[in-house]
Amino acid sequence: MCGIVGYIGEQEAYPILIKGLHRLEYRGYDSAGVSMINKAGVLSVYKSKGKVSALEASVADKDISGTIGIAHTRWATHGEPNATNAHPHFSQSKNLSLVHNGIIENYKSLRTELEKNGMTFCSETDTEVLVQLIEYTQITHNCDLYTAVQLALKSVIGAYAIAILDKRNPDQLICARKGSPLIIGVGANNGKKNGKAEFFLGSDATPIIEYTNKVVYLQDEEIAIMNREGDLRITNLSNVKQTPQLHTLQMNLDELEKGGYAHFMLKEIYEQPSALKICTKGRLNVNDKDVLLSGIIDHKEKFVNARRIIICACGTSWHSALIGKYFIEEAAQIPVEVEYASEFRYRNPVIFPDDVVIAVSQSGETADTLAAIQLAKSKGAFLYGICNVIGSSIPRATDSGTYLHVGPEIGVASTKAFTGQVITLIMLGLAIAKEKKTLSDELFHMLVDELQQIPDKMQWTLDHNKGIDQFAQMFTYARNFIYLGRGYNYPVALEGALKLKEISYIHAEGYPAAEMKHGPIALIDEEMPVVVIAPKRGMYDKIVSNIQEIKSRKGKIISVVTEGDTIVKGMSDYCFEIPDTRDCYVPLLAILPLQLLSYYVAIAKGRNVDQPRNLAKSVTVE
Ligand code: GLU
Repeated sequence: MCGIVGYIGEQEAYPILIKGLHRLEYRGYDSAGVSMINKAGVLSVYKSKGKVSALEASVADKDISGTIGIAHTRWATHGEPNATNAHPHFSQSKNLSLVHNGIIENYKSLRTELEKNGMTFCSETDTEVLVQLIEYTQITHNCDLYTAVQLALKSVIGAYAIAILDKRNPDQLICARKGSPLIIGVGANNGKKNGKAEFFLGSDATPIIEYTNKVVYLQDEEIAIMNREGDLRITNLSNVKQTPQLHTLQMNLDELEKGGYAHFMLKEIYEQPSALKICTKGRLNVNDKDVLLSGIIDHKEKFVNARRIIICACGTSWHSALIGKYFIEEAAQIPVEVEYASEFRYRNPVIFPDDVVIAVSQSGETADTLAAIQLAKSKGAFLYGICNVIGSSIPRATDSGTYLHVGPEIGVASTKAFTGQVITLIMLGLAIAKEKKTLSDELFHMLVDELQQIPDKMQWTLDHNKGIDQFAQMFTYARNFIYLGRGYNYPVALEGALKLKEISYIHAEGYPAAEMKHGPIALIDEEMPVVVIAPKRGMYDKIVSNIQEIKSRKGKIISVVTEGDTIVKGMSDYCFEIPDTRDCYVPLLAILPLQLLSYYVAIAKGRNVDQPRNLAKSVTVE
């Protein structure tokens, strides 16, 4: 779930590993560790609880030399976050060290078996089972390490990305994956830099991009071995040779830096207008009044003839999926169901061969979403992916799809990926509507024109809602928040509440505004801030009545209104303004002040916005 970095080459490994861990910090973690083999053949392991900086401090007086190494940031699943449970883990003989992302589901039975055979364990993790199992297999089969890894992994159930060092062989690095991503960076000259070989490992591209843009995405059940000669050999668990496919990363280093902002989250909030311009570039064609999504062009009939669309997602992506549902149903007249991937995958859902199943995931690695589409595939549905990370697992597992192209999202709380997903789902709805002729030409053209203006209207929204930092100070006392919206803005209420929960740790709930009277209204008193999304469109009068009901019970009203509105403004304690737009596009504007509100409340409470506690950016475990 968290981060792996690895290096073998001519350079000192430690600075590369530490920098890589810092680049992966955004994914969320609770402890970190490194392992290197020095010139004298000593295999070291250093680990510590907390941040990468704590690890750095703890190795200040240690030997950190060596030109081969592995490193890890852990997001604990088995065993509390402490230095003992942190990775890398030694094997019993201390010949091997191993890092692991994922979960080994049958670790208990494997551990019991290994203990019966005399292997001893130091940690409570599922991971330690892997390194002991590999060592035990090597001893009992009297084979090389690569073969031992192959054999050992055959008896492992669960998800893993692993990297292993062997002090008896400091010239090779071995890694493997199943269910958790792992990327091999191939140094200049195909692994040979100035005639010298060099390879990098990363659980995503961020630790690698600084050194090379040539990468190989390891596939499920593949094991790779790389050496100082520049050889990269990949086989599957059955020892069938695989040809490494070299890809070029389309990412630049600046995108991974904060660019003058205090936090990645703030940078990403402000990046949204430009990110969405890129996302829609070449896709929204205002002159020809058309929407061109390459992922659909080749599969038009699948969408036109779809009996139903099912969107599988988790977290923020689930909220954007809900907005997508409202729009696709309205524009393209296809029934759409939105499913939590984690629920969907464990039911026995009815899926027809003429269903289209859409997976929405920023990282493209969300374990539940990946499993949900695998289930849908087995039932014959057509799979479409909407992801941000290029080359990730979901785009590779789907029949077709669309990338968001909003650039790397580093802040754990999703912002630009949310609006990128919403606008992509809207473009998808428009593209299908065009094919199905469910909208009049006039309305279709108006929708395309207006969508084209959304990035500028987002910019206006960001420019005109200053001072949220001051205003946010007033809410550090709050223990609860309620967010209300109707229609397209109900999912915005859910997303606004989620943002606040994630980074400020204040409890918040989003509701359809009319549901208030069925329960939540009992919570309203003078202590309760209520955020209401109330644009001057759609069900304006109804939401005005809902605000009235809250006011009469002394709730504090924070509203999002259309520029120039006086009625709701007059009833509100604080008001954010957005430009007028069509109902279906309001979420793309209304969410912006809510992202800023959660950011500034969290800052006022002294929270670590980019690395909120217990959260991880890319949820590659179930
Ligand atoms: N399951 C392993 C552990 O708890 C690895 C977790 C991770 O992916 O960071 O140590």
